Amino acid sequence: PDFVPLTRGLAVPQGISKASFLSAVHHLKALLGTENVELNDTEIKNGWYMEHPNTHDMMPLLHTEEFLASAVVYPGSVQDVQLTVKWANKHLIPLHPISIGRNLGYGGAAPRVRGSVTLDLGRRMNKILDINAEDYTCLVEPGVTFYALYEELQRRGLGDKMWIDTPDLGGGSVIGNTLDRGVGYTPYGDHWAMHSGLEVVLPGPEANLVRTGMGGLDGGNTWQVFPYGFGPSSDGIFSQSNFGIVTKMGMALMPNPGGYESFMYTFPRESDLAPLIDIIRPLRISNILENVAQLRHGLQTLSVKGHPRTKFYKGSGPVPENVWRKELQDTATGECAWVYYGMSYGPAHIRKYKLDVIHSEFLRIPGAKKIDPSTLPADEYFWSRDRIASGTPDFEELLWVNWMPNGAHIAFSPVSPIRGPDATKLYELAKKRHDEAGIDLMPAFCVGLREMHLIVEIVFDSEDEGMRARAEKCLRDMIDDAAALGYGEYRTHLALMDQVAGTYNWNDGALMKMNNTLKDALDPNGILAPGRCGIWPARYRNRGWEL
Ligand code: FAD
Repeated sequence: PDFVPLTRGLAVPQGISKASFLSAVHHLKALLGTENVELNDTEIKNGWYMEHPNTHDMMPLLHTEEFLASAVVYPGSVQDVQLTVKWANKHLIPLHPISIGRNLGYGGAAPRVRGSVTLDLGRRMNKILDINAEDYTCLVEPGVTFYALYEELQRRGLGDKMWIDTPDLGGGSVIGNTLDRGVGYTPYGDHWAMHSGLEVVLPGPEANLVRTGMGGLDGGNTWQVFPYGFGPSSDGIFSQSNFGIVTKMGMALMPNPGGYESFMYTFPRESDLAPLIDIIRPLRISNILENVAQLRHGLQTLSVKGHPRTKFYKGSGPVPENVWRKELQDTATGECAWVYYGMSYGPAHIRKYKLDVIHSEFLRIPGAKKIDPSTLPADEYFWSRDRIASGTPDFEELLWVNWMPNGAHIAFSPVSPIRGPDATKLYELAKKRHDEAGIDLMPAFCVGLREMHLIVEIVFDSEDEGMRARAEKCLRDMIDDAAALGYGEYRTHLALMDQVAGTYNWNDGALMKMNNTLKDALDPNGILAPGRCGIWPARYRNRGWEL
């Protein structure tokens, strides 16, 4: 990591003097141990994926010190979390919980409110509390990463019996990713759907501890097997929110399906998108296509080779189509506009049935080609997809971030039905805004089950202020354009949360009014992650914090 001196000094939270803040931090050190509270008062420690900073976003869209923590706390137990919540209520200091803090593309470890105290749960609360080989479930603490869970299954000799589901990068937290409703690429890829029961510290002055679902029983063995329990299903209010601090979570593990086989198809023209999406829809809904279907643009396939864009094109503005097409000619996919990555699960005879249907359907697109995996070298990106779709964590996906110097990225991710006309509308609006901003368009359509997320990753130079501003404008324009057509985002970056929340405005913003009511009831002093997902506590609301 390199160190950059702070230009704006210690980020004291708004509404408290520096002296009172320092005295409160002193008090917290007495409660939790001096070594478990760090003041962030001299420099910004930058890093990379493996040694990521926990005080700010290592891929900042705005100036780094805009969303910066004043201090970091490392609780070692649920009681420590409760003590910290009581402390925050007493001093009216905002807390920002992270599990690992690798939420890259969505704000990393940064708090929305400058000067918040980061509650880094993962550093010390990182135990796998249970792996149940009969029920195929686990119970984890916030610091358990996808890698750690995977390695523990191998260590216990269970790796052949059960799989985890991992996002494209395996260094994130199972809890953090699931709470942000992240996705992976086996049939268990919808992480929120696969969780079962939470333990949560509530943000009010009493710091009450609750368990949801079957965890609400006093004992028993059903917490991890049935997510709903009795009465209102309250889990949802703790995901993409600021209503509680999750300290434990149950999660399903996937039985080894008894075989698997990755496949890759290429399609020659950009205009193949709409008919192809219409072919994918019935196959995905009926589970012939069994995992998140990924249809990636040719330029993204080129960028994941890990080279800077200047290797291919030195001009300004988006890389021209003839350039990326020519470069693809010498790669495993050959020249193409779209690449489909998928996996079929089960024993060979089961796979054969599904793969034959897929083959005949995909070949309805003129010029479609199946690439034979046996022709691919071991370092081809296809094998990274193969590992991820079979539950083995990986890092290769990070390579496309090298497209720009000081590579950072931010995503535009609207949801639509799996329909050709929707895909075309979203693709065209993204293309128009990228061309205006002079930014390369690298879309991937990720098909969940009945919906798809278009994931457009804007890769930008985080040291180039002008480019950061163009990336932000491009994002904001796309969000507005999509909303005007009736599409909303599934997840977004900290800096864009107010805007995205504002698009969910049916019936005079009734949904946000309900969220505000919940926020004020659960967090009357407004100490927990103010502004996250556009939800502001009363103390901040309509006082100029919204971006
Ligand atoms: P954290 O940063 O710990 O948590 C995420 C957020 O949840 C926090 O900011 C916080 O607001 C909240 N939170 C966390 N823990 C708690 C808690 N205990 N209580 C209350 N609130 C909490 N993501 C995907 O989902 N799928 C992908 O395939 C994927 N691919 C990526 C590829 C690349 C190249 C990059 C750079 C990123 C990718 N991401 C992807 C985004 C991101 O890296 C992952 O989602 C990652 O798992 C999130 O970070 P984390 O797990 O460390 O969560």
